[in-house]
Amino acid sequence: MKKNILFRTNVVICTVIVLGFLLTSMISYFSNNGIFKKDVEKITTLTSEGIYHQIDSIFTKPINISLTMANDSLLKMFLTEENTRGGDEEFVQSMREYLLAYQVKYGYDSVFLVSAGTDKYYHFSQGVDRILTKDNPEDEWYYAFMQDTREYSLNIDNDEAKSADNGITIFINCKIYSRDGDIMGVVGVGFRVDTLQKLFKEYEDKFKLRAYLVDDDGTIEISTTKTGFVKSDLFRECGYGEYKEEILANQEGPQSFWYSSGGKKGYVAVDYIPNLKWHLIVDNDTVALEKRLNHQLALGVFVILLVIGAVLFMITCIIHKYNSQIISLAVEKEKAHRTAFQTETEKLYENIYEIDITHNCAASEATESYFESLGASKQMVFDDVLEVIARKQIKEEYRDGYLNTFSSGNVLKAYEEGRESLYFDFMTTNDGGKTYYWMRITARIFYWKDDQSVRMLVYRQNIDQEKKKEVQMAEKMMRDSLSGLYNKAAVQELITGYLKGDTENCYAFFILDIDNFKSVNDTCGHAVGDRVITDFAGKIQGQFAEGDIIGRIGGDEFVAFVPAPSEEWVGKKAEKLSEALRYEFSDGEKICWISASIGVSIAPGGGVDFETLYKNADTALYRTKQKGKRGFTIYL
Ligand code: GH3
Ligand code: MG
Repeated sequence: MKKNILFRTNVVICTVIVLGFLLTSMISYFSNNGIFKKDVEKITTLTSEGIYHQIDSIFTKPINISLTMANDSLLKMFLTEENTRGGDEEFVQSMREYLLAYQVKYGYDSVFLVSAGTDKYYHFSQGVDRILTKDNPEDEWYYAFMQDTREYSLNIDNDEAKSADNGITIFINCKIYSRDGDIMGVVGVGFRVDTLQKLFKEYEDKFKLRAYLVDDDGTIEISTTKTGFVKSDLFRECGYGEYKEEILANQEGPQSFWYSSGGKKGYVAVDYIPNLKWHLIVDNDTVALEKRLNHQLALGVFVILLVIGAVLFMITCIIHKYNSQIISLAVEKEKAHRTAFQTETEKLYENIYEIDITHNCAASEATESYFESLGASKQMVFDDVLEVIARKQIKEEYRDGYLNTFSSGNVLKAYEEGRESLYFDFMTTNDGGKTYYWMRITARIFYWKDDQSVRMLVYRQNIDQEKKKEVQMAEKMMRDSLSGLYNKAAVQELITGYLKGDTENCYAFFILDIDNFKSVNDTCGHAVGDRVITDFAGKIQGQFAEGDIIGRIGGDEFVAFVPAPSEEWVGKKAEKLSEALRYEFSDGEKICWISASIGVSIAPGGGVDFETLYKNADTALYRTKQKGKRGFTIYL
């Protein structure tokens, strides 16, 4: 029951905590996710914009410088003169100085000029660096550029110039047109690709994303790890390969979108840089970030579980603690209540003990100890214990009644008859028979399912006070209030009790009637009459021993019933009585002469029951009165 409450409490608390935590976790997860997505979008587009503007400014200047050189009439004049002065050292030197002047002014890694007439490659440091040839793959860029219609182009290549250490360089190539529109050559500047790579790296390190510049084929021209020199297709391994055509076709302006494919997820911002005719792609791969978010969610769940565990543990401890406190309080309360109950019960009952009637033994240790205290041994069966108690404590005349009522056989019989309680009143002693007091034993009989036995709960109740009052009351009921002698009913009952079954012993039954009592009343008054009755009763009592039955059965009519040793003794007794009841009554004021007429019957000859003895004694009385009163007659 208690465990059930604890379990239910824990389930309710767990559910509340889990729901609460889950709700807040989900809300925070989704709001974080929203914020995270917005951040990703913002960072990606801003980075794209930032790189775009930086690239634009980085490239605008060299393009403008290259275009300025391409339109420089001095340079055109140089190229025109090349046919005639090409081999002239001074000419080459002038050309070199021209290029060097630009290099010094703007600090580019390369400033070059290719003459369309001679295919000579002039360089700011070497002068004539080399002569380009169509069959040299390194020079393909030049011949390809000469073929297309663009005014300028960008290409990324290793710098073949002798002083350039083959460094990967972005070249801006501009065509030089003659007045007739013929291509006189190509002039341009070059700067090392690592300038841009550094820029990309700064962004990538700062915002954890990847930036690429790709050409119209999707080949990476510049990224932090690759350059156009190695010809690598960006869309082959990225997660947004399916949008390749769309991205490369875009020349409108910036675009951005979310992608998810092949385990790759992210947000990509694309833009077209018309100056370079390249596409800027900024890819924000969110897989790692999402992993981190999921990891945080898992961590949150783990913390929830820990918190639930801790809360459950604490609740269980608290409930256990409070349970034991409540239990001990309840136990204390119950104990106090029991003690009070016991004290009050003990006022009613001397002892309460329990007997297993089926097994004829004490049913509790307390009962066993009680039996032992009364002198019974531990192994004794209950019936034997009863005998011990009866012998030791119970007044002789009650022993049989006591044993018969509470013997195991009688209790089982009573139970089978459907009786649930037994009681017996008796006199018992605590001082070895010196004094006796009244005791009532009430027994409740019941069936004890656990061991399928008939049991008896026994209450010993001291009823001495009540019983004494009861006896007093009964006694009072038996007495005549005026004379203090037995009344007629009591006399009849007591005499009947004496005579019951005794037809052998001799008893004398006397009726004593005050002679002319009416005249006492008439002459001296009713009150004096009463006093005469009382006095007369005392006189009769004086003639008999204690235990003899003396009563007043009518107005001035008394009886006495005594064991009689012989008929002769009866005659003598009657005579003695007659004499004793002949006297002068005086109360100080009035004097009356009192005498009695007596009628006697003798049991068993004159009757063996009250009615016959009374009738016969009354007949004898009648005869006495007929004879002149003041005497006696024995009915024979
Ligand atoms: P007898 O000699 O034949 O016995 O006649 P008696 O006068 O004694 O008269 P009887 O038996 O006829 O009447 C008894 C009288 O006793 C009648 C009644 O008024 C009176 N008496 C009965 N009870 C009481 C009593 O309690 N007190 C008093 N003072 N008188 C009583
Ligand atoms: Mg009379």
